[in-house]
Amino acid sequence: MADFIPFNRPYMTGKELFYIAEAKFQNRLAGDGGYTKRCHQWLEEQTGSKKVLLTHSCTAALEMAALLLELKAGDEVILPSFTFVSTANAFVLRGAVPVFVDIREDTLNLDEKLVEEAITPRTRAIVPVHYAGVACEMDRLMEIAARHGLKVVEDAAQGVMAHYKGRALGTLGHYGAFSFHETKNVICGEGGALLVNSEQAALQAEIIREKGTDRSRFFRGEVDKYTWQEVGSSFLPGEITAAFLWAQLQEAQSITAERLTIWDRYHAALEPLERAGVLRRPVVPGDCQHNAHMYYVLLSPELDRQSVLSRLKEQGIQAVFHYVPLHDSPAGHRFGRVHGSMVQTMTQSSRLIRLPLWVGLTADQQARVVDALQLAVR
Ligand SMILES: *Cc1c(COP(=O)(O)O)cnc(C)c1O
Repeated sequence: MADFIPFNRPYMTGKELFYIAEAKFQNRLAGDGGYTKRCHQWLEEQTGSKKVLLTHSCTAALEMAALLLELKAGDEVILPSFTFVSTANAFVLRGAVPVFVDIREDTLNLDEKLVEEAITPRTRAIVPVHYAGVACEMDRLMEIAARHGLKVVEDAAQGVMAHYKGRALGTLGHYGAFSFHETKNVICGEGGALLVNSEQAALQAEIIREKGTDRSRFFRGEVDKYTWQEVGSSFLPGEITAAFLWAQLQEAQSITAERLTIWDRYHAALEPLERAGVLRRPVVPGDCQHNAHMYYVLLSPELDRQSVLSRLKEQGIQAVFHYVPLHDSPAGHRFGRVHGSMVQTMTQSSRLIRLPLWVGLTADQQARVVDALQLAVR
């Protein structure tokens, strides 16, 4: 049998272990050392965000955003049901109620046309998720938020190096959250970042991240001791993680370019299958410069997804699906509520499969994936 093609293979630039060794020799293993500072500065320059803070995951960055919003029990947060659990969990941890709104048929992003009618006097925030690194309709969402006095937290876990109208994802809302999990484009195992897009919230974000203390100001020499200031926790990664990430950030441009080449190759090769009506390819609106985080297809409703996945597996190809809609999960029923129809969420999530996409995937391997898919849908 031909070689197995995994769904994901974490890419290493080659410098990771060197930087980790350097961190060790500098005897600086706790967080906020030289590597963390380099990552912060690079991310701030690259995105244009006022303040970027590394966290130990995107989940942690979302939890920080929820703390920054000072949510109270019963406050409502509008988000898609078609997303990863952390988008909802971060707010449920603060006692807020996730209000699930349907997605768009084309991008599978939160449907901005349905958001306004879901707003109630308890609504505090909107949490758009940039699925597959393709931006939500942010101009419209920001306009709705401004009119109703709401905050916007972008779940940009998949959106590192992607743009909307030339602006980096994660910098369009009040807060943005990146993920550097090993399944994302730029990685450090487990890791993330909070993007704080106003000077004013930056200090509070530093405090929340450093166990609720003003330790960051103390290290800068701005105060002569550090004390407990706010509710906070430990959200910062250690230097070993930051050293790994630094190696990746330096290659973020070339990683994105390589992934886009692979993405474009799938897109061209699968066009005949779309024309034949057996699947639908991803849609990227003209305003969005995506980062090739993911290549997915939506199978035609007559096809059985499980058997397509099994047939791919028989040919040595690991393809996967996601998400089980949050509103339809045990915790979703317990903690959240649905606004309006979930018809797109239910239909699209049941048809979707994700194909292998990682730096190093060869054109030959991609051709095998496409051939196998052609056979599997026959
Ligand atoms: C990966 C992902 C997360 C979680 O990221 P972690 O870094 O693993 O916490 C959150 N939201 C979305 C949309 C994701 O894809």
